[in-house]
Amino acid sequence: MSTPSHNYSAIVIGAGSTGSAVAHDLTLRGFAVTVVERGEIASGTTGRNHCLLHSGGRYCVKDQESAIECIEENMILRKIMPDALELNGGLFVAITDSDMDYKPLFLEGCEACNIPHKELTADEALKLEPNLNPEVKAAVWVPDGVFEPMRLCLSFLATAKSHGAVVRPFTEVKGLLMEGGRVTGVHVWDRIENKEFDIHADVVINAAGPWAEAIAEMAGIDVPVVPTPGVMVSMTGRHNQRVINRLNKSSDGDIVVPQRETSIIGTSSWKVEDADYIEIPEDHVRLMYERGAEMLPVLKSVSPRGIFTVARPLIGSRGEAEGRELSRTFKCFDHADEGVEGFVTISGGKTTTSRAMAETTVDVVCKKFGLEIPCTTRDTVLLSYRAFYTL
Ligand SMILES: Cc1cc2nc3c(=O)[nH]c(=O)nc-3n(C[C@H](O)[C@H](O)[C@H](O)COP(=O)(O)OP(=O)(O)OC[C@H]3O[C@@H](n4cnc5c(N)ncnc54)[C@H](O)[C@@H]3O)c2cc1C
Repeated sequence: MSTPSHNYSAIVIGAGSTGSAVAHDLTLRGFAVTVVERGEIASGTTGRNHCLLHSGGRYCVKDQESAIECIEENMILRKIMPDALELNGGLFVAITDSDMDYKPLFLEGCEACNIPHKELTADEALKLEPNLNPEVKAAVWVPDGVFEPMRLCLSFLATAKSHGAVVRPFTEVKGLLMEGGRVTGVHVWDRIENKEFDIHADVVINAAGPWAEAIAEMAGIDVPVVPTPGVMVSMTGRHNQRVINRLNKSSDGDIVVPQRETSIIGTSSWKVEDADYIEIPEDHVRLMYERGAEMLPVLKSVSPRGIFTVARPLIGSRGEAEGRELSRTFKCFDHADEGVEGFVTISGGKTTTSRAMAETTVDVVCKKFGLEIPCTTRDTVLLSYRAFYTL
């Protein structure tokens, strides 16, 4: 398909999963794109998350909007992303009577959200995952998977580069350029060359994850993004081949994701002011060990390889519900609504839903310029992440 022809340019702030997907979509719709990222690609939340390619199972009872987004995007990423995913599937496992009571609700949720699923007996589950708690009562299989976050971002960005995008890692936005009520570009610090300069564009997209609020403040705008961290504990050795989730209402320490040769227990949820300096609460770490071992008792006898945390950029206000109660869905803000033209923020969501977040964002951007260019990212197979370094 030929690239639509117009002369508009865009700057994307942040090369996490959201900014990378936005850059890809913008180039397909004919924009001249520059991506600025203060660190390495995927050095924010995306590079340190749990890496679950969500089937939607975790949200299908309480947050069906997110669950539907997840399963739709899971199925699309399988088609368009050739080498950043491990499609290993996941089990929701019932260990207690309370888990068994939750099972009918979970099955109804899967049906309502169109999540493919299959009930397994305890024996079938143990055959697939011999390290499961032998007390397991039943399990449900779903199409969970695992992504490699750096590769996922690089796949989007390699494809964007092949359509002319300029990607500038280690380039930090220090300020927004404003003319009248309009954002006309960014003032940046190139951290490698130690130089400061301006980059101009017709539109600036704030995809700075949990730092989105700080970027918006540069234009005097308040966006309701709440940095909501979670703790993860990476254990020595890979003890499960599939993602293992607890078959119950989402709670702390209820998932173990296999990533390469480790099993990673997660996670928790609380709110912080500053996404750069997050203290890891000791009691959260203890809870990860305890809850993880309820599903995979072998985790009691292996040592941790690493304990880490990172903040979700969730939509909400600090006074609102606790972290786990905030929805995992996403929102795009056109700041023309607050009187600032040429500036859009995208936040919330998940790495799994990054393509859909980009589609919504670029629809908003196109509308601002009166462009009617359909999104084609659902069917555009991405280049390999390897191409990023050769283009
Ligand atoms: C504990 C935890 C576990 C999670 N697990 C999963 C999971 O298993 N599966 C899933 O799909 N999602 C998961 N998520 C959600 C997912 O990680 C986030 O929704 C997603 O990574 C957000 O991506 P982003 O691109 O919006 O933000 P980020 O990845 O944070 O990207 C924003 C980028 O902006 C850059 N930036 C900030 N300020 C500036 C500046 N001034 N100038 C230039 N660049 C700047 C940052 O360096 C950063 O790289 C998890 C989140 C958490 C917290």
